[in-house]
Amino acid sequence: MTEVKGSCLCGAVKFQIEGEIKALTYCHCSMCRKVHGSAFGAYIVTGKDSFVMLEGVESLRSYRSSCNVSRTFCGDCGSTIQFMRDGRDDIGVAAGALDDDPGVKPSKQIYCESKAPWHLLQEDIPHFAERS
Ligand SMILES: [Zn+2]
Ligand SMILES: [Zn+2]
Repeated sequence: MTEVKGSCLCGAVKFQIEGEIKALTYCHCSMCRKVHGSAFGAYIVTGKDSFVMLEGVESLRSYRSSCNVSRTFCGDCGSTIQFMRDGRDDIGVAAGALDDDPGVKPSKQIYCESKAPWHLLQEDIPHFAERS
């Protein structure tokens, strides 16, 4: 079984992924860009049940960015942690928060239509205008 650890910048939030890592996706939508403060959001896709909090559950805050999407982050340092769509068994985990190598490479870039005007897409990773 894969066991991949991650944490926030201040170290209050610690988690591990226990289970299959299904994909690594880059999302270029404006919400992911803002929540990550970066050119795009890089997410590990895994089952909701595979995400296990080790420490700092009291520091984890949640923000509802769409009617059916919530995003979690550390309330102390602001590091983004999860992307969760209501009713889905899979969640996105901020790949930048991982401390271990998840052992996968990015397989797609989505919402490229909304990408930052200054960002140069990586042409060798399949890209899609919206969701694939
Ligand atoms: Zn933190
Ligand atoms: Zn997005």
